[in-house]
Amino acid sequence: MDAVAALYFALIVPTCLWLLALVGAGVWWGMGRPAYLLWYSVASLFGGVALAAQTVMAPHAYSKIAPLLSPTYILTITGLTWALALRLKIHMSWRWTLVVALIIEVLVIYFSQVQENLSARLTVMAVGLTALLLQLLPSLVRLHWRALSFIDQGLICGYGLYTAFVVIRPVLLLWDPESFAAPFALGVSLIWLITLYGSMIMGIGFTGFFLAAAGLDSVQQLRNERDQDPLTGLLNRRALLAPWPELANNGAVVVLCDLDHFKHINDTWGHPAGDTVLNTLAALLTANVRPTDRVGRYGGEEFVLVLHGTTLAAALARLESIRTQVAKTVWPGLPPDTRITLSLGAVALREQESLTECIARADVQLYAAKQGGRDRLCWEKAAQLS
Ligand code: GH3
Ligand code: MG
Ligand code: MG
Repeated sequence: MDAVAALYFALIVPTCLWLLALVGAGVWWGMGRPAYLLWYSVASLFGGVALAAQTVMAPHAYSKIAPLLSPTYILTITGLTWALALRLKIHMSWRWTLVVALIIEVLVIYFSQVQENLSARLTVMAVGLTALLLQLLPSLVRLHWRALSFIDQGLICGYGLYTAFVVIRPVLLLWDPESFAAPFALGVSLIWLITLYGSMIMGIGFTGFFLAAAGLDSVQQLRNERDQDPLTGLLNRRALLAPWPELANNGAVVVLCDLDHFKHINDTWGHPAGDTVLNTLAALLTANVRPTDRVGRYGGEEFVLVLHGTTLAAALARLESIRTQVAKTVWPGLPPDTRITLSLGAVALREQESLTECIARADVQLYAAKQGGRDRLCWEKAAQLS
């Protein structure tokens, strides 16, 4: 292969990294803009610049502008490190990053402009970039490996591999300095081929994992939106009624609650004040059940509690306490003496019964509570249960 052909051949790799950066940025734009994807694209963009410069420039020319090119490596590594830190929600120190970057830059200026020394420069880059990469290590070892998704595990493995690559590459170059004269040494230099195509394979790997992470985040977000009531953040009716097989085995109490004369609150204080009341009640209900129970908004001012693994007799005191807490609540945005009450209907889930059927029975009890004068709890008596 002649030199020009070799040059074009070698430029496939930076071009590929730029395309990956473009794909990452495009997906970032279209998919809820997860910051890690943008930073990964920045890494890929500068990684491409670094490799392209090293590919097209003869060593003596490269030496002259080395202080302009070392930032491309620093930005590649920092972009990747920050992307991983954002993705895994772990700490990356910007102060450490700046200090190391500054030291690298000063030494590269010295070993290229004051005293030309290629091996010293390569050593500075290798040590400095490794220091940037390894700063995540203390946080990474503290993560629970098994609790991580396959995607995050893949990202961490890729990061480890890349760190090894950053350490080993300059060692190989020092061992065979001729190979630094890329691309003219291409075809004879295995090291340069490994550098280029190693970068490309890792770029493709990282892009795959980061895109998969963004996809997974989007699906998770859609799932949350599908299951959540947008006003209160509680489960919506769909999620509330979703299959829950363990319920039948362990017993459950199903409660339908409805605010009393809520229309009057809206009419007197306005709809936004009504919304605040609904949010306050949602928080109160959530605070009064266990994390394993379900709390959902069944309709306008109607809420459902599914108390898992308990009996009606055991749950009554808790429900009565919820009722009295509501009656005593000082509602944000309303005059302090505004009294709002809650009516509740409670039943025990029967064997083979669906939640929908059970809620219909709880509704009968709620109706009784309303008929009985509101601000009360009615439940299905033992005689009715048999
Ligand atoms: P009762 O004691 O018989 O339950 O009387 P009520 O006034 O609470 O019941 P009604 O069914 O007559 O009125 C319910 C009101 O709830 C009417 C509706 O405007 C209001 N509502 C439903 N959804 C929302 C909401 O998301 N926000 C607000 N602010 N009000 C809502
Ligand atoms: Mg009501
Ligand atoms: Mg109602």
